[in-house]
Formats: sequence, C-alpha cells, structure tokens
Amino acid sequence: MKVLVLGAGQLARMMALAGAPLNLHISAYDVNTGNTVHPLTHEILGKGLASAIESADIITAEFEHIAPDVLAQCQESGKFLPGAEAILTGGDRRIEKAVLDKAGVNNAPYHVINLREDYDAAISKLGLPLILKSALDGYDGKGQWRIKSAEDLEATWYSVEAFLAGADDRQCVIAETFIPFDREVSLIGVRGANGDTAMYPLTENIHTDGILSVSIAADDNHALQQQAELMFKAIADALDYVGVLAIEFFDVDGTLMVNEIAPRVHNSGHWTQQGAWVCQFENHLRAVCGLPLGDTTRVAPTAMINMVGHVNVPQEIMSDCHLHWYDKAPRPGRKIGHINVTAASREKLAEKLTKLGQSLDSTEFPAVKEAADRLRC
Ligand code: ATP
Ligand code: MG
Repeated sequence: MKVLVLGAGQLARMMALAGAPLNLHISAYDVNTGNTVHPLTHEILGKGLASAIESADIITAEFEHIAPDVLAQCQESGKFLPGAEAILTGGDRRIEKAVLDKAGVNNAPYHVINLREDYDAAISKLGLPLILKSALDGYDGKGQWRIKSAEDLEATWYSVEAFLAGADDRQCVIAETFIPFDREVSLIGVRGANGDTAMYPLTENIHTDGILSVSIAADDNHALQQQAELMFKAIADALDYVGVLAIEFFDVDGTLMVNEIAPRVHNSGHWTQQGAWVCQFENHLRAVCGLPLGDTTRVAPTAMINMVGHVNVPQEIMSDCHLHWYDKAPRPGRKIGHINVTAASREKLAEKLTKLGQSLDSTEFPAVKEAADRLRC
C-alpha cells in the first residue's frame, strides 16, 4: 500500500521506518517545494500535488500547519485520514478551542482577540495572569505572550497589534487563563475507522524555553489515565478521528485540563519506539490503512531525550540507550534527533538518566537531571 504523508520531516521519516516491515511504502509531500520526496533520502519522486494524490492509496499528515487549499484537494480525493477537519482543528487554536468545548472536555477559559476591544474584554473576562497565543502557526512556544501584571498590558498590546498587522487575515490571537499546573503530561492514542481505540500510558513532559526536552513514560496513575482516556474518546469521537491523536494536558492537583491537541504522531510519543509493544508510528499507519490496531502496552519504563541544535553525543552512551537521528543539519532550536532510554524499573531508569546526565552537557541537555529527580519522587 502506498501512503503519502503531507510534510517531509522527521515524523514522515519515522513513519517510513515503521511502515517498511508491513510493506507500506511511504512518500512525503514537501509543502514548501511542491515536490514528493523519499522520506529518508529526500530524492525527488514527483512534482505537484495532483500527481502525488493520484499515485497514493492513502494520504495522511505529519503536521497541522498546512494551507487550506492543499487540505481541501486531499480531502476531495477521499483518501485523506484523519482528514481536513482534524488537521484544520489542530492548526487553528480558534477551531481547536471550539472542538474542545463541543466535546465537553476541561480546558483553560479563553477569549478570541482581533481588536483592542477584544483585548480589553479578555482581560475583564479572564483576569490576570494571562497567556496569549497566535491562533495559527504556533509551535515550540512560538507566537506567545505572557501578561503577568497590569504593568505589562500596554506593551503587550503594542506587540500583539504589530503582530496582527503583519499577519494574514486568517490570523488572530487567543487569550487563555494562565493555569498554575503541577506538571505537563500527554496522552498518545489511536482510533481506527471502526471506532476502536488503543491508548499508551500517560507521558510526563519537561519543556525548556518552550521546546520539549524530556518525556518520561514510567507512571502508573490509573485515576489520571482514566481521565485522559475519557477525554481522548470524547475528542476523537467529536472529530470522527482515524489515526494517532496526541493530547497535551496540565495536571492541576490530580485533575487534568487539556492544553492542546495534535492530530498526528507526536514528539512526546517517540518513547514508544523502544518502550511499547507497537510504536505510535506503526499504529498511526495501521489505523489509516485499515489494519488492526497494535498493542499499546508499555514494555518497560522509558524516557525520551530530545537532541536540539548543536549537541555533542558521546558514542559510549549507546551502550545504555537508542539513538534516533533525523539526518538534519543542526541549527539553534532545531530538533535533530532523540535518545530513548529503557530500564527494567523506575529506579533503574532514574539511575540510567543520572549516568547519562554525567556524560551529556547540561546546557545542551537541560532536563536530564531533572527527569532523574522526578523519577525518584
Ligand atoms: P507545541 O510545541 O507543543 O506545539 P505550542 O507552541 O503549540 O507548543 P502550547 O503547548 O500551547 O504551544 O504552549 C507551550 C507551553 O506554554 C506549554 O507547554 C505550557 O508550558 C505553557 N502554557 C501554554 N498554555 C498555558 C496556560 N494556559 N497556562 C500556563 N501555561 C501554559
Ligand atoms: Mg504544546
């Protein structure tokens, strides 16, 4: 079966690697050039969206910031899963918040801002502190403003106003109540076309400067898992979703609140490559290709450490972990690979992370020590 992935980054690459044993042939459509490329070598396989769609059996996506006309053309083909509505929802916080409300899941109170009046209304409705996020094109914490106190109000408005003036007409800003969370967790789940679902255990995520540093899959909190799974089902059903869907949550004293969703395989699910019976990439492909879903059980406590920008990775660490390089040139803030570490127990995982923390530069890998400390809590 031939699967076309919209987007030609590391997620398409890892789908190709996971799909090969199932005889699934993955090609990647580079939305920037309009070329269809091999997801590993980037060799050009074809030009133009129409011929890419024509030669695919199934179309899916590795990211959500895709132009609406490209999504519409894919939807028209009848081959696109999870489909244009789900991708548009993940790519536009305005639609996303409306879907979360419609699904009845707990999420931060918000207000949509286009004009100064909306900004003032957001402040009187939600109070301070506030976080503002661009509705479109946000990732890795980009396109965000934080308002801590009344003193920040005027300067923030000037910045938001300038941002909106320079953006296209579809752009706007969403104000959200600032949630004083204890930690951030995410759920990666998969839904088949027949409505079957399978979910991985919750992952705890540590961010540095808005970018995911470390994900830890070692928790067995049944109450939290149950809350997350109910919300997953509500959202996935509301979107009639097919494929892997990731949901980021705030854990506020044992109650989960949805932060955002990603209609695709997700960075916080990379641990499943070594830590689960069937990884998120294979499960996404199984779902969109109409194959039975795979076992999402965790095989062993696992941590995933992102390699971001220019990093030194001593070869000796390979005796304790798996390296996944994306074949990308390093640039500040760019994810170029990740490290998966598995261990027989939570304690052993903490020991391995402590050892890794001694081999890796703490400015290049800022959260490894913290991850080890969290495992010991
Ligand atoms: P991603 O890379 O996950 O796509 P993003 O840029 O889309 O990130 P968010 O996940 O919405 O943006 O926000 C980035 C981070 O900002 C969150 O991981 C969280 O730490 C913080 N944050 C977001 N919303 C809130 C909120 N309402 N209250 C407190 N902190 C928040
Ligand atoms: Mg996020």
